[in-house]
Amino acid sequence: MEFITGYRAEILDFAEVLFDWYRRFLLEAAGRRGSERHKQQESSLRRLPPDPALWVLHTLPNHALAFTVADPAQQVGGRFYSEEVLALQDLERFITFVGTVEEEEEEEEEATPQAGQPLWRVEHLLLVTDEHGTILGFDFLLGGPPKAAGQEPLEARALALLCYSMTCPLGAGEPRRPKTLTVGDPVLHKSLEPLLSRLGVAMSKGPMRGWGPRPAFTFPTTRVQACHVCKKHSFEGQLTACQHCQAVLYCSERCRKLDWSRSPEDIGHRFWCQRMAGYMSHARDLANLPFTFAAEVTSETFNKEGFLSARGLTRGYWAGESMLVRVPDYGVGLQGPPKKPADFLQSGNPFEALRPEGGAALPPAPPPPPGTFFGSWKEYYQWRGLPLGAPLAVILTYPLTMYYIITQLAPQHFPELNILNKQSLKIHVVEAGKEFGVLMAFWELSVLLPHVSLEVLFVGEALPQELDGQQFLLQRDETHGVSVQPGLAPRAKAGRRELQMGFSARPYHLLQAPKPDLVIGYNSGFALKETWRSCLPRLQSLRVPAYFTECSEYSCAVDEAAVSTATGGSASPALINPFRSPFRRAGTDNAMPWYANAFVFHLIYKASAGTHRPAPLAQPPGPGSSSGNAPPPPPPPPEPSRSRRKEKRQQRAAGRRRK
Ligand SMILES: [Zn+2]
Ligand SMILES: [Zn+2]
Repeated sequence: MEFITGYRAEILDFAEVLFDWYRRFLLEAAGRRGSERHKQQESSLRRLPPDPALWVLHTLPNHALAFTVADPAQQVGGRFYSEEVLALQDLERFITFVGTVEEEEEEEEEATPQAGQPLWRVEHLLLVTDEHGTILGFDFLLGGPPKAAGQEPLEARALALLCYSMTCPLGAGEPRRPKTLTVGDPVLHKSLEPLLSRLGVAMSKGPMRGWGPRPAFTFPTTRVQACHVCKKHSFEGQLTACQHCQAVLYCSERCRKLDWSRSPEDIGHRFWCQRMAGYMSHARDLANLPFTFAAEVTSETFNKEGFLSARGLTRGYWAGESMLVRVPDYGVGLQGPPKKPADFLQSGNPFEALRPEGGAALPPAPPPPPGTFFGSWKEYYQWRGLPLGAPLAVILTYPLTMYYIITQLAPQHFPELNILNKQSLKIHVVEAGKEFGVLMAFWELSVLLPHVSLEVLFVGEALPQELDGQQFLLQRDETHGVSVQPGLAPRAKAGRRELQMGFSARPYHLLQAPKPDLVIGYNSGFALKETWRSCLPRLQSLRVPAYFTECSEYSCAVDEAAVSTATGGSASPALINPFRSPFRRAGTDNAMPWYANAFVFHLIYKASAGTHRPAPLAQPPGPGSSSGNAPPPPPPPPEPSRSRRKEKRQQRAAGRRRK
């Protein structure tokens, strides 16, 4: 059993929902032949409950975009891509989008697909939504120009699409029939009228003009869940959670049984069910956050797009949180390779990219430096003068988690380092991911720790190659807020309020750099990236304190097993991170609570033969911690039989690589 919630770009889950729905629609359309079936379908559609919301059939011409499909055989079991696809750029193995605008003639050349890969041109997109923007169905008209609108095939396709959208609404909800429909094409509107009246659907008085989504427009499609085993989506049938743990979703008794006794045993649900029941019982602790919006954003049905757009969180770093905002995204691998990665690394107010539309930015530095170390969002927000209704924690979770590790966890777990007395700290961020997309937010570290000169080196193959080996110095600047200078500019006196950032776009085990004081990996997913298999042994040989965050306790348990396989060491018990992101991420095939940076643990290295230094012991934060809510007791670690499990994991990993 493997869950990838929290690691895969949401837009990929969304793409898979669309693909699955469309595949079923085409199959159904191909099977619907003969007038007998037509009549049956008509009468069953007439009996559907009416939807009071207005439905809209949009006919959207497309001249800008075409695509090629690499190898249809790579579509795994009727799915568009496998679970190994985590970022949008991984999709390029399967599909490539080709622009067809600009200079037509040149474009023809550029758009020439590779041998065996025909270029698909989408002439029209037919899209059925309701007036709130919920997508109910869609169809493409491919290839040459469609015949004059209103004639076959457009009308027939539009009717077939409307019928299937009623019996199998994509976005959400039970089968239903719109009371009223409006169409974005006058000819089509007229010709559909008699056909639809037979189904009990009234047409609006005239064709639609200038429809736009209402202000409350969202994508309620996040609630399209899937069976954990066969990935069947909720629009194809009822999904139910495992009765005992309530954590995993299945479409049928058959899938539940299959999952229960998968082999090897440690991927079967039999092995995990009890543990997952434990993880589920911590859902409330994870949702316990001081924000005024906490109930909304920690709910299982949290509508993130609605939340973001209602608050004007559509620009800067917030764009990386949304599927709807089309702006360049500098997060690694979220929207293709970043083009100008240094764009957000510029002088000015470092928190400009956290500012909501029409709102004010966080000041670069508040007046008095803090006299204490904060252990909760509440304390931090108070000192920063932020209202508890400000959602900045979603982005500040990255620097604040680093701050929490420096000031609270590392001093307790590795007291011999004396980390709190250091004038300068070297920190490596390994396998840098989403945190790379919010670089300037790390300035908050120099606001919180003005006496420390910090060097943060972001390392990982996913970083843009052109940044490899580059350094930047961020310094407090009275006129601009913060000045960013490339290279190693002269240091300010006593290293006050400055932050050095470096980048290495290579795997960690190939990095040539002085040993850091601390290593941090955010939302690491050891089992999901091959590079961890070399990174973890490197860390073991360096014996540097290494902390990792995860989106769930389940991920921590999987990581622990991966550490044991890769290094023979282990991981400390996972603690709830008080500086986790407040946004709950929806699990597609499970109901577990997932949050970015939800849990923290550190590596426990295998004692090496030469040294007698004992491995550091894991301790929960002691009374010195100012954290208000003590983390719950750690979950039971996975059962022993480690060597056997280790073997199996290795075999499985080898099997995966062969694919
Ligand atoms: Zn199933
Ligand atoms: Zn269960």
